[in-house]
Amino acid sequence: MKTQTTDLLKILKHSFGFSSFRPLQREIIEDSLSGRDVFALLPTGGGKSLCYQLPALARSGLTLVVSPLISLMKDQVDAMETSGIPATFLNSSLDAAESKERLEKLDRGEYRLLYAAPERLMLPGFVEKLRRWKVTLIAVDEAHCISEWGHDFRPEYRRLAELREAFPEVPLLALTATATGRVKEDIVRQLHLKNPAIYVASFNRPNLTYRVLAKQKAYEQVYHYLKSHPQDSGIIYCQSRRSVEELAERLSQQGIDAKPYHAGLGTEERSKNQELFLRDEARVVCATIAFGMGIHKSNVRFVIHYDLPKNIEGYYQETGRAGRDGLPAECLLLFGAGDTVKYAQFIEQKSAARERDIAREQLRQILHYAETSSCRRTALLGYFGEETSVANCGGCDNCLSPRSTFDGTVLAKKFLSCVFRIREKGGFSVGLNHVVEVLTGANTEKIRRWKHDAISTYGIGKERHKREWSAIGRELVRLGLLTQRAEKFSVLELTEEGMNVLSSDQPVVLTQQLLPPPETASPSTAPRAQKSGEIVCDEALFERLRRLRKKLADEKNVPAYIVFSDVALRQMARDLPANAIEFRQISGVGDKKLQEFGDIFISEISDHNQTS
Ligand code: ADP
Ligand code: MG
Ligand code: ZN
Repeated sequence: MKTQTTDLLKILKHSFGFSSFRPLQREIIEDSLSGRDVFALLPTGGGKSLCYQLPALARSGLTLVVSPLISLMKDQVDAMETSGIPATFLNSSLDAAESKERLEKLDRGEYRLLYAAPERLMLPGFVEKLRRWKVTLIAVDEAHCISEWGHDFRPEYRRLAELREAFPEVPLLALTATATGRVKEDIVRQLHLKNPAIYVASFNRPNLTYRVLAKQKAYEQVYHYLKSHPQDSGIIYCQSRRSVEELAERLSQQGIDAKPYHAGLGTEERSKNQELFLRDEARVVCATIAFGMGIHKSNVRFVIHYDLPKNIEGYYQETGRAGRDGLPAECLLLFGAGDTVKYAQFIEQKSAARERDIAREQLRQILHYAETSSCRRTALLGYFGEETSVANCGGCDNCLSPRSTFDGTVLAKKFLSCVFRIREKGGFSVGLNHVVEVLTGANTEKIRRWKHDAISTYGIGKERHKREWSAIGRELVRLGLLTQRAEKFSVLELTEEGMNVLSSDQPVVLTQQLLPPPETASPSTAPRAQKSGEIVCDEALFERLRRLRKKLADEKNVPAYIVFSDVALRQMARDLPANAIEFRQISGVGDKKLQEFGDIFISEISDHNQTS
């Protein structure tokens, strides 16, 4: 028996308050309901939870959700309860009495969803219990945790195969936002998925704007950003624990509510800081990449990278934590040549050659992202093998304000001929740094040993800084005039195209390097294009509703976004619902929330309209 799509839409509105599905949600839900195994790869914020929460209501029996993080389970269950959906979790955070009560309710069939950590499933007798509770779907969230090739391997996830064996007839639904080809195969194989339907959504996040800023005085740049976005909450990723602490400390001293988060802090302090952030009590978290999977806060408005991320994959995941609610959010990368040099040195110290090669290649890719003058979104998606057809994405610095270019023929020729002469002199090629040292007339041990101070291009680029030459070199690689090998010390070699430039008067156009930002950006009065996902509303009312939401959330002891998302509040502050019928049109307002919060928000809105 197939559940009709209209029925699904009804449940979607009644229980979740949404009027349409996000891409692939309907397909995933329908396939899963028909009894098929499903593998779903959806980006962060794509709405994976709904893919098992909704079927749990559409069919009889219990839906088991396997999830790796205890803190997440509690938030999800709180969110379900606020929407009137009977759900619970079992994990080590509960005391004996609480567990007992939940087990009894499970025996009585009072829940539709049960969240559990994988280690719980293997406790003696648990499989029998699940059988008694009539499990009809097993959802494995964060399914990449099963793979050693992923970044979050959890050995307990491996034992899920036993669960599959115990319930061969129950369909499995595996969900993740991170999976390379290898991880995907691993998930399908390890979970013994049978002829699964495979869904892969686009990784484009249209509501995110990507920008790269030349890193000058990093602290001032960040401070300035925070000051000019006084209402917004966000994450600042730093490379080291020390810089996390220093940054959080300095910002706090200057009146910005920032908390540190890294693996070196005690468990208690870590979870306290995370909680403050989730509850909108700390506006900013300064963190290492240890801060991640647990962040389900939907109104993260910006993610700043204070230092160069290690690779594109990580950058995409970290920036992905912004704007889960679909409203506009910003991803800002501070890019400094100093970081590049530090990283490159760090990489050369690695002892295993293969690791070194991989790290070099990853550095090359992230540098390309940081330095490209074309669309950053296209660059990111291209990394995941996704092609885009739009010429201007309207959501990255390069598309919004294209960088200027200049006639770089002379510079290009200097660089290319230096590569050529070095090769001619010794019969071997060298890496980018060495070429730059020859160009700028450096006096290094290698230059003396190889007698590169005797070639004609030695010192012909003294007028420019080394880091400018490095950037020019990398642009020539991007233009295809040079190739850079990933292995063998990343040596540079001239391509045929590069040789042509040297031996003709073919012009070379280079991009103006990233400029430092204007000291104080004056707010523009010109009408600006609406951002993807933007909801224009009465901002004063939005602020007022935010305060109301915070108060209600505190009373219920849950994070604010569990009461209503920012999207819901903005729609209220735009549409000004004056009665239950109008209020029900708001995104996220289902039956339960209408009943519980409708009157109080409607009267707040009408108060505001009378006083303003
Ligand atoms: P993921 O796990 O894929 O990162 P979530 O399940 O946490 O994403 O959902 C992200 C946000 O999107 C949540 O705030 C959720 O309520 C919202 N959402 C999910 N599905 C829909 C939908 N069909 N319409 C509107 N909002 C949705
Ligand atoms: Mg999720
Ligand atoms: Zn773009």
